[in-house]
Amino acid sequence: VAKRLEKFKTTIFTQMSSLAIEHGAINLGQGFPNFDGPEFVKEAAIQAIKDGKNQYARGFGVPELNKAIADRFHKDTGLTVHPDQEITVTSGCTEAIAATILGLINPGDEVIVFAPFYDSYEATLSMAGAKVTGITLCPPDFALPIHELKSKISKNTRAILINTPHNPTGKMFTREELDQIASLCIENDVLVFSDEVYDKLAFEMDHISIASLPGMYERTVTMNSLGKTFSLTGWKIGWAIAPKHLIWGVKQAHSYLTFATSTPMQHASVAALRAPDSYYEELRKDYQAKKDILVEGLKSVGFKVYPSSGTYFVVVDHTPFGLPDDISFCEFLIKEVGVVAIPTSVFYLDPNEGKNLVRFTFCKDEETLKNAVGRMKERL
Ligand code: GLN
Repeated sequence: VAKRLEKFKTTIFTQMSSLAIEHGAINLGQGFPNFDGPEFVKEAAIQAIKDGKNQYARGFGVPELNKAIADRFHKDTGLTVHPDQEITVTSGCTEAIAATILGLINPGDEVIVFAPFYDSYEATLSMAGAKVTGITLCPPDFALPIHELKSKISKNTRAILINTPHNPTGKMFTREELDQIASLCIENDVLVFSDEVYDKLAFEMDHISIASLPGMYERTVTMNSLGKTFSLTGWKIGWAIAPKHLIWGVKQAHSYLTFATSTPMQHASVAALRAPDSYYEELRKDYQAKKDILVEGLKSVGFKVYPSSGTYFVVVDHTPFGLPDDISFCEFLIKEVGVVAIPTSVFYLDPNEGKNLVRFTFCKDEETLKNAVGRMKERL
C-alpha cells in the first residue's frame, strides 16, 4: 500500500458492521438508518431509470439538481449562488471532502481539524500531502478552545475543516464560536471547509452555515449530502458549494476522481430537495423521539451521557463499567451484550485520546433502540 495510506486501517465502520453481522449484535455503530427513505424519492429514482436517464450526467451535476441545491441553500442560509458556477455534485459528501481537499490543498499546506473527527478527513488530507494540525474538543460540552486555535494558525495554514452538527459528539458550533473562527480566518487569510451533512438533524439550536457569516462566503466550501436527511445513505449523492475561484479546484478534482455521479439518482434527488418544509419538521420530530429513547435508555443503564445537540449520534463515557479502554469496551459490548457502538479513539490524531468515550447512533427504528437498551440493562 502507498506510504500515504500505510497508517490507515480498515475503517472502523466497516470493522464494526462486520462484527455486528458475525455476532448477531444490534448495530448502533455505523450511522445508517435501518428504515427506508421516502416513497416519493424512491419512485422518482425508478421513474428516472425508466425515462432513460442512464448515461453519464453532466460532470458537475445534472442542471435540475444544481438548481434544486441552490434553491435549498438559499432557503437555508439566505445566500444566492449560481447553480452552474458555484456548485459541484459529488458521489456523497465523502467525495465532496476529498475533491475539496485534493482540489485546493498543496503538499505541505497546513489544515486544522477538530478532534474527534470523521475518519476520512485525516486519510484524505494525507493523500493530498497536507500537514494536519489537530485541536481537541473536550467533554462535557466540546466547546471551541479559541486560544488554542489562535495559537495553532500559522502562515502555512491554508484551511480549517469544521463539521457542524459534529460527528461523533453531536456538538453544534454556536454563533459565537463560528464568529470567532470567521474572524481568525479573515485576519489570517484561511479557508473553511464546512461539512454540514447533519444540518437537518439539529435539535437543541438552529444550525448555522459559516458561509452565511459576513465575509465568509468567499472563503468557504460548504459540503452536504442527501444521505442523512433522506435516509438514503447508499445513494451517495453529495455536493460542494463555493465561490467560482474555489469551486474550480473542487470541480477539477471531481472530474478526475469520479467524472460524474449516478444520473438517475441525481434526478431523484431533485424530488427530494424540493420536499416541503413539513418533511424536515417530521424528520426532526421522528428523530427526537428516537433520541429520547436512546438517551434515557443509556442513562438508565448507567452511562454518563454527554449532551448531543445535533446529528443522530450520542457520545457516552463507558468507564463506569470497568473496561480499560473504548476498543475493549466495544468488543465486550458486541460479544457479551450483543450491541455495537463505535470506539472514539480512532477519531483522534493521538490514539491515546478518546479512550473513555464510545458513540451510539439512534438512526434505527424505535423497537431496535428499545431492544438494544434492554440487552444493555440485562447484561452490562
Ligand atoms: N458517517 C457515518 C458514521 O459516522 C458512516 C460513514 C461510513 O461508514 N464511512 O457512522
